[in-house]
Amino acid sequence: MAKETILVYARVKPLGRRQEAGIYSIEDDEKSLSTLEIIVPHDLADGVVNNKRESYKFKFQKIFDQEAKQDVVFDSIAKPVAECVLAGYNGTIFAYGQTGSGKTFTITGGAERYSDRGIIPRTLSYIFDQLQKDSSKVYTTHVSYLEIYNECGYDLLDPRHEASRLEDLLKVTIMEDPDQNIHLKNLSLQQATNEEEALNLLFLGDTNRMIAETPMNQASSRSHCIFTIHISSKEPGSATIRRSKLHLVDLAGSERVAKTGVGGHLLTEAKYINLSLHYLEQVIIALAEKNRSHIPYRNSMMTSVLRDSLGGNCMTTMIATLSIDKRNIDESISTCRFAQRVALIKNEAVLNEEIDPRLIIVQLKKEIQELKDELVLVTGKQRTSELSQEELLQLDKLIGTFLKDNDPDSALDVGADMRKIKYCFVHMKELMNHSKISDRKWLSQHTSEEKDTNKEAEELEKMKELLQQRDNEISILYILVNMLKKEKKKAQDALFQLNAASAGIPCAVPSSADDYYLSVGENMSLGCQEAFEVFKRDHADSVTTEDNKQLLKQRFAEAKCLGEKLNEVRNKINNLKGKITQRHIQKAALAVSSPSEELNMLDPVEEKLRMQIEEEKKRYYFCLKLLPSCGR
Ligand code: ADP
Ligand code: MG
Repeated sequence: MAKETILVYARVKPLGRRQEAGIYSIEDDEKSLSTLEIIVPHDLADGVVNNKRESYKFKFQKIFDQEAKQDVVFDSIAKPVAECVLAGYNGTIFAYGQTGSGKTFTITGGAERYSDRGIIPRTLSYIFDQLQKDSSKVYTTHVSYLEIYNECGYDLLDPRHEASRLEDLLKVTIMEDPDQNIHLKNLSLQQATNEEEALNLLFLGDTNRMIAETPMNQASSRSHCIFTIHISSKEPGSATIRRSKLHLVDLAGSERVAKTGVGGHLLTEAKYINLSLHYLEQVIIALAEKNRSHIPYRNSMMTSVLRDSLGGNCMTTMIATLSIDKRNIDESISTCRFAQRVALIKNEAVLNEEIDPRLIIVQLKKEIQELKDELVLVTGKQRTSELSQEELLQLDKLIGTFLKDNDPDSALDVGADMRKIKYCFVHMKELMNHSKISDRKWLSQHTSEEKDTNKEAEELEKMKELLQQRDNEISILYILVNMLKKEKKKAQDALFQLNAASAGIPCAVPSSADDYYLSVGENMSLGCQEAFEVFKRDHADSVTTEDNKQLLKQRFAEAKCLGEKLNEVRNKINNLKGKITQRHIQKAALAVSSPSEELNMLDPVEEKLRMQIEEEKKRYYFCLKLLPSCGR
C-alpha cells in the first residue's frame, strides 16, 4: 500500500437541552474535503477587548453533523479500515475531543438503544460476518483491551479487575525488541471465536473501565482505552500467516486543566491526561514536520503503544468529536487545530505476512524422510543415525593404518558417509587430546621433581650429546668404510678393464678421479655429505688424505694415458695384422693366375710388417707393466 495521510473526520455532538448552540456551518463537497466553519461571537471575550478572529475554517475528510446516525458513521469511517485489516494490514481508529464531546459514544456506543451501538460492536459484527463468508482461509481472532491511566497500563480483560484495587493489579509494561517492535507484557489476548464471545469481552472490559466524577461530565473517562482486534489468517496447507491488528482508541478528554475546575487528586489525573495528550501532540507535530528524524514516541505509554498507528505501518483514521455549544467553542477550535496537524501525517501500511516455523518444520521433516528413502534406494542400504559395531571397528582399523602410514600422499577414504566422516574427526580429536594430556602430565611431573633431578638431567643431557657424537662418528665411519670398499672395487674394475683391453675388449675408463668421488657423494644423503665434509676437513690425517687424493688423481691420469696408448698400440698391431692378411690374399690370387717359384720365396714387405708388429708389441707390454703401479 502506498503512503497515505491519516484520514481525519469530524463529528458534532447533538446539543443538550440547556445548551446554546455555537455558530458553525458545514460545507460539504462530495468530490473533495468538507469544510467546517466556526464563528466566534464577540461576547465570548467577557468584556475584555476582543482581538480574536471571528471565523475559523477547518478541512475534514467528512463532517458528521448532530443528526448523523451510528450506522452511517460506521459505514464511512470504520468499514474501509476493517476491510484493510481483513486483508492483512494494520488499522487504527481513534477519537479525540474534549470530555463529553461523544468519543465513547462514537467508539463504543450508547447504552440506551441498540441502534446506538458504536464502532467497536459494529466492527466486530462486520468482521465475524466476513470471516464466516470466507472459507478459503483459516482465521483466528483474539481481542485485548488496554486502559492507560496516569501513565500506567492495565488489562481491562484481567478477571482480577473487579475484585482488586487498581494498585494491586498487574501493570502492563512496554517491551521493545531489537527491531523496535513494541510488545505489551501482562496484556492478555483473549480468543474470540464468534461475535458473541467478542462482545462479552468488550462488555467485561467496559465494566472494568476507570470512571471518575468531574464537575464537567458525570461519566467521563480520564483514561485512554485501546480495544484491539487481532486477526491471523492462513490458507490451508500454506506456511504463510497473515497477522493484522485493529486498534479502536477512545482517548481521554482533551480539555485543558483550568476548565475542569478540579483540585488535589483529580488535578493530578488531569495533568496526566493532558501530559500524555501533550506528548501525543508532540509526536504528531514531529511527524507532520518534514526532515524530522527523531519522533518522541517513547515519552508516553500511549504514544509508544500507538507508534505504528502514527507514521508507521498502519491505515489510521481520526475522528474529532466536537461539542459545539457556546461554552465549548474554544475547545472545539483547539480540537480542530489538532485534527488539521494529524491530517498531514503520512502512514504506510504493509501486508503483515510471516512464515509459520511449525509448518516449516513439518515440511522439512517430510523432505528429510523422502531424501532418506531415496538414499536407501540408491545405496541399497538402510542407514540409521548410528554406525554399527562392525562399521566402527572397521573405521578404527582404517584410522590406525592411516596414522601409521608415513607416505604424505596417503589418504583416509571412508566413502561419502557423513556419519563415518564425523566419527573419524571425533576419533582423531580424542587421539590428539590424549597425546596432549600425556605431554602435560609429563611436564607437570618434570616440574615437581625439577630440583632433585637437575643434576641427573644435566648428566643425561651430556650422555645424550655424547651418544649423538658417537652416532655421528659411527655413521661417518660407516660412510668411509663404504667409500673405501667402493674405491677398492673401482680400482679392481679398472685393472680388470685394462686386462680386458689387452685382450681386445672395449672398456670405459672414468674421465677423472673427481667423477669417482662424485659418484660416492651422490649415494649419500645431504646430512651425510655434510658430515663427511666436516670429517674430511677435521680429521687428523686430512693432509695425508689430501696428498693421497692428489696422488690418486695423478695415477688415474697416468692410467688413463697408458690405457689410451695401449688402445693405440693395439689398433696399430691390428692394422699391421690386417695388412699381412691382405698380402697373403694377393699372393694366393697371383699363384692361381700365374704360378711361379717366386711366390714361395720370403716376402720382404710381409717381413717388414712383422717387424713393425714386434716393435708395437714391445711397447704394449711396456705400458702393461707400468699400469699396476698407477691403477692402485
Ligand atoms: P466522551 O466520551 O467524549 O466524554 P461521551 O461519549 O460519553 O463523551 O458523550 C457524552 C454524552 O453525550 C453521553 O451521554 C452520550 O450518550 C451523549 N452523546 C454523545 N454523542 C452523541 C450522539 N452523537 N448522539 C446522541 N448522544 C450522544
Ligand atoms: Mg468517554
